Amino acid sequence: MSEKTPRLRGALDGIPSYKPGRSAPAGGSKVYKLSSNENPYPPLPGVLEVMTAGTADANRYPDATCAALFAELANRFEVPVEHLATGTGSVGVAQQLVQCTAEPGDEVIYAWRSFEAYPIITQISGATSVQVPLTADEEHDLDAMADAVTDRTRLVFVCNPNNPTGVAIPRPALERFLDRVPDDVVVVLDEAYREFVRDERVVDGIELYRERPNVVVLRTFSKAYGLAGLRVGFAVAHEPVAAALRKTALPFGVSQVAQDAAVASLRSEDALRERVEALVAERARVSRELIAQGWTVPESQANFVWLRLGGRTLDFTAACERAGVLVRPFAGEGLRVTVGETEANDIFLQTAGAFRKSEY
Ligand code: PMP
Repeated sequence: MSEKTPRLRGALDGIPSYKPGRSAPAGGSKVYKLSSNENPYPPLPGVLEVMTAGTADANRYPDATCAALFAELANRFEVPVEHLATGTGSVGVAQQLVQCTAEPGDEVIYAWRSFEAYPIITQISGATSVQVPLTADEEHDLDAMADAVTDRTRLVFVCNPNNPTGVAIPRPALERFLDRVPDDVVVVLDEAYREFVRDERVVDGIELYRERPNVVVLRTFSKAYGLAGLRVGFAVAHEPVAAALRKTALPFGVSQVAQDAAVASLRSEDALRERVEALVAERARVSRELIAQGWTVPESQANFVWLRLGGRTLDFTAACERAGVLVRPFAGEGLRVTVGETEANDIFLQTAGAFRKSEY
């Protein structure tokens, strides 16, 4: 056997691994998964039928051009088909965006803490992450982010609302920030949770994209649309970014079942909207009760809430697990809990109340 080992890119050394939210163990008593910001509702009946029927053609490759999905999206969002790109979840499109813009020596700016894929996909490209801490109010520090732009900056992620804090950026602040970023730097408005936003001060990124050629909007079918398992997300971007995204797309990366289910979901938006409304109402209830228990809860515009527990994070996580709910801890920082089924939210709230009392 040769002594030599395969040569791998040095950029991969020390890449943090993506930690998915824990899944419920098989068997045993009921455990609720509130750790991955999934939708607790199964696919709508009509969508499920489309998916089931589609599996019969699994011996065929999908439509590599995603023509039917692009046509539906173009119509729904009133954007040209040429401004659309899909990928294996919006995280796949986010990775392509970094690949399209940043090389070794280039910089990618984002708030921290934010979506944990950003450091990973940045490092895979060999680029350098510039992490700008959130403010004490868990908000994006957009002034500091604009100040951090250098001539090496190629891309800025703005996660709106932010994962894991749920806090969203009001329109004037975002516009002021965009005015300060040079036109040749791509700004990605990651709107994975857009459909849960109810604060009217928060602008729909697609409006901003229309006037600003360097703005890219990322959306997904994983959250409000409840299709996380199918892996389909998309970007809305002007040329030449959209064309670059199409060049870097993994051929046949989005399965036909995913494309068909996404189209069927877009056509069932009224039924989906009802489910999203129910989750938004649950979000309000969870936040209200936590505040009544004495917790500090940043106002969430997403399908999760954030508790900054610092050194108590893992103890509280363990208490939740003993009670039958899996949450997403960030050790030493805080905990994100997805708004799920009513009974799961009830268990979480009871656990939070008991934990709080045990501390005093
Ligand atoms: N962006 C944000 C902010 C997210 O929280 C997530 C999922 N956790 C994604 C993108 C990626 O979602 P998906 O790849 O399922 O579209």
